[in-house]
Amino acid sequence: MSSGVVQTAFQQCLNPECRATFDVGQVLTACSRCNSLLDICYDWNRSILPRQLSDFQQRWSSRLNPLDYSGVWRFRELLRFAADEQLVTIGEGQTVLQQNDRLAAACGLQSGRLFLQYEGQNPSGSFKDNGMTAASTHARLVGAKMTACASTGNTSASLAIYAGVTGLFRCIVFVGSGKIAFGKLSQALDYGAVTIQIRGDFDDALARVRQICERYPIYLCNSVNPFRMEGQKTIMFRVLEGLGWQVPDWIVVPGGNLGNCSAFGKAFLELRQLGLIDRVPRLAVINAAGASTLDEFWNGLGLRWNDGRPSTAIMRDRFDQMDRHDERAATLASAIEINRPVNLVKALRALEVCDGVVRSVSDQEIVDCRARIAATGFGCEPASGATVAGVLRLREEGVIAAGDRVVCILTGHQLKDPDLTMAYHSGDHNLAAKKLHPAGVTAMPFANPPIVVDNDEAAIVKALGLQSSG
Ligand SMILES: *Cc1c(COP(=O)(O)O)cnc(C)c1O
Ligand SMILES: [Zn+2]
Repeated sequence: MSSGVVQTAFQQCLNPECRATFDVGQVLTACSRCNSLLDICYDWNRSILPRQLSDFQQRWSSRLNPLDYSGVWRFRELLRFAADEQLVTIGEGQTVLQQNDRLAAACGLQSGRLFLQYEGQNPSGSFKDNGMTAASTHARLVGAKMTACASTGNTSASLAIYAGVTGLFRCIVFVGSGKIAFGKLSQALDYGAVTIQIRGDFDDALARVRQICERYPIYLCNSVNPFRMEGQKTIMFRVLEGLGWQVPDWIVVPGGNLGNCSAFGKAFLELRQLGLIDRVPRLAVINAAGASTLDEFWNGLGLRWNDGRPSTAIMRDRFDQMDRHDERAATLASAIEINRPVNLVKALRALEVCDGVVRSVSDQEIVDCRARIAATGFGCEPASGATVAGVLRLREEGVIAAGDRVVCILTGHQLKDPDLTMAYHSGDHNLAAKKLHPAGVTAMPFANPPIVVDNDEAAIVKALGLQSSG
């Protein structure tokens, strides 16, 4: 592999009737002709590509080079839209794939068959850094001085850390009121982001920031930015690496704005085209029941990719209906509390490529699984808990077999939402009544409440049920 050679990359409209192409130097979040989503495409130059994926492993020996250290840019030949000198990195993507046999047993999977890809280890504590390092690179490429995003929390934390660490640009984050977990909001404030809290939810905030970025010279970093998707592809490369470059049977991921699942589908599509893998895994996208737009479209209304021509009538009718009834997303998994997923069409492509399935799980299932994951190792935030809830469901249905090799993507860190964790564990009825009961979470079967005792040996010994050793 030779570094630094830029192969031709360009932006291309997803709509097969249009297929307009644009230079990577242009700042676009939709096709300027037909308003469809954009992809980053490459005229693959095979002479600078690895012959096999395992060639990337050599980069572990040159980790003093920040680009080789990065879990994103280590794979830069597969997302080569900028030259080495332009790439922005803050050490993202140092993640591990964790085999979890105890959870496998709980899910009815054979030992050695369940893996957790722990993206909470990223610098800002969520997978968003994989995409933001690519968007930051593009922002630098086009000389942006001001960036913005709307966020349920993690996108803003991620953009804010890249702005803060690199000093390349300033950033404005738009958040809805009352919906954002404190761990995430506190990061944006700490990293110095200009934080605009609007009255409304995430869908409102995104519509507003898109409008503002169109009218003013501000670079938009939401997942309508096609460069983010390029960085997020590398999560799948690292999963393959963690499995010794073997393709698993299933990738299970929570679905919010559907950028991540879309990026995964694109990653496998490209790897297959390049002959670097010989089969693709199946994809399971898990919605929260209170934000289940993809589930409705895929399972309820039969919407499909259809060679890039999904039924616009089905989509328009349903979104119009949402508008008319002012339907709002509602789930404790705030990172996926989204009713109008902007990457819907790309997600349909990913589901097509990966023979995917979609399921919705309740908040009760989400918070229980979150607690069960945490109790066996790395913790995660509620949205990530949806993955294991999805595996349980798909095992019950027999869609996932006991011997299948399953990888769950734990998208965000446990400490992002400590309020929810405490409401679950503490046994404090007021906390539960305020936070959990309104979402239909009435039982906490995996709670581990603190034991309150007097500061007194006898009382402590009694509480612990200890027998004297003497
Ligand atoms: C953003 C986010 C999601 C949703 O990902 P999409 O790409 O929007 O579908 C899930 N979990 C966490 C922790 C997130 O931050
Ligand atoms: Zn177009």
